[in-house]
Amino acid sequence: MQCHICRMTGANNTIIDSVNQYIVENAGAVQMHEIVCQVCDVLGEHEEFAMTPDEVTLHITEHVRHQKVIMNTVLNDLLRLSRVTKSASVNECGETGIATVDHKMLNNYLKIVDQIITVYRMDGMKESH
Ligand SMILES: [Zn+2]
Repeated sequence: MQCHICRMTGANNTIIDSVNQYIVENAGAVQMHEIVCQVCDVLGEHEEFAMTPDEVTLHITEHVRHQKVIMNTVLNDLLRLSRVTKSASVNECGETGIATVDHKMLNNYLKIVDQIITVYRMDGMKESH
């Protein structure tokens, strides 16, 4: 597979330049799914640049090196992990209804929350708010 966005970046192509600008400007403000849809729509209007949603997702999550885009990808992963570890931290007994805390999982959750706060403090993230 060839990534048309990477292939044409820096080639003074107005379509690709606008796609790159759109991705950086909207990372974090718009859901990944929506960004991918918009980019696919724009690229699909030009047969030679057409890419599938999976290919565009791969470009955004693995090819783009812009700090803001990377930080938002990391942030998405951390937020997902925080939800999973948070619910796994407390076990409620189905019979007695007594809740017990899984200390190892709770520690993991708190570490993840710390990392989320660290990401928010980074300069690359501040400009987007
Ligand atoms: Zn790419």
